[in-house]
Amino acid sequence: HAKEKGRNTYSYFTNKMNKEVSRRLAIEEQIHGALERGEFEVFYQTQVDIINNIVMGAEALLRWSNPALGNISPDEFIPIAEQTGVIIPLGKFVFLQAIVATTLWKKKHLSPFRIAINLSPCQFRDPDLVSFIIDNVNQSKMSPKDIELEITEGVLLSGHDYITEALESLSKAGFSLAMDDFGTGYSSLNYLRTYPFNVLKIDRSFINDIETGTANKELVLAMIAMAHALGIEVVAEGVETEAQLNYLKSINCDYAQGYFFSKPSPVVKLLMSSPEPQCDINTINTP
Ligand code: C2E
Ligand code: MG
Ligand code: MG
Ligand code: MG
Repeated sequence: HAKEKGRNTYSYFTNKMNKEVSRRLAIEEQIHGALERGEFEVFYQTQVDIINNIVMGAEALLRWSNPALGNISPDEFIPIAEQTGVIIPLGKFVFLQAIVATTLWKKKHLSPFRIAINLSPCQFRDPDLVSFIIDNVNQSKMSPKDIELEITEGVLLSGHDYITEALESLSKAGFSLAMDDFGTGYSSLNYLRTYPFNVLKIDRSFINDIETGTANKELVLAMIAMAHALGIEVVAEGVETEAQLNYLKSINCDYAQGYFFSKPSPVVKLLMSSPEPQCDINTINTP
């Protein structure tokens, strides 16, 4: 009996592994050419200035919809795009789309607008990354300060000189640098001290627990105080409730982003929205 149970457990795991491997292979196969087939779209999630109650910008977030696989989440396909090198053209696509979206927003609204774009560690291995960014922004009517480049600790872990140099060049050119998912890594504090960051994004996991865990309340408070002491602005990620927002306001957080205001949405919806933030109650708790 026990032997049979063991065998079942074994086949359960091999089945699970087989499924994971074949899904991975399918994604790898489908991701090639997906950009050319027009399967990627850039969505935008607004970022709100919570002191003046106005939309101050948006984060560009990539979406992939494939006929065979359906919608695949970036958490699943970005690592595969990185391993296959597809991230290089894909990253350029996101950047160019985001510039167009921002230009359109600026035509429609007079208020300032900053677009946040995620950069993967692999994009820094492209020796043309910095000139690609600078050239394209120069050709548009945008100023580098309207562009926030979001990087995670993963970009800085390797400590390669070319990464430090790229970040220094982009910072000198006037781009805003944001440390994404702050608080989840191993040595975020050290990076904050070493690199020229302008913005710190507090990871969603800390915001989630604001109402329940007192420790997180204190941590968020301390992160904001520390960032401000260093002259760094703070964006709170994953704000979903009014209580979270009120707490963030009470401790002088600068900006907030999350389902409470809006889910990531296609560019047309971004352009239709007004600079006065609406809380998007209808989208909360829906997948
Ligand atoms: P991220 O840069 O930290 O982006 C924030 C993620 O939190 C997004 O997930 C967003 O949809 C989600 N989010 C925002 N507000 C809320 C909220 O109130 N509640 C909850 N539960 N989630 C919220 P998404 O779009 O699935 O992206 C996941 C990650 O994939 C991103 O994390 C980023 O690391 C990566 N990613 C997405 N687009 C790109 C891209 O164009 N380039 C690169 N290199 N990475 C990207
Ligand atoms: Mg981000
Ligand atoms: Mg983040
Ligand atoms: Mg993330």
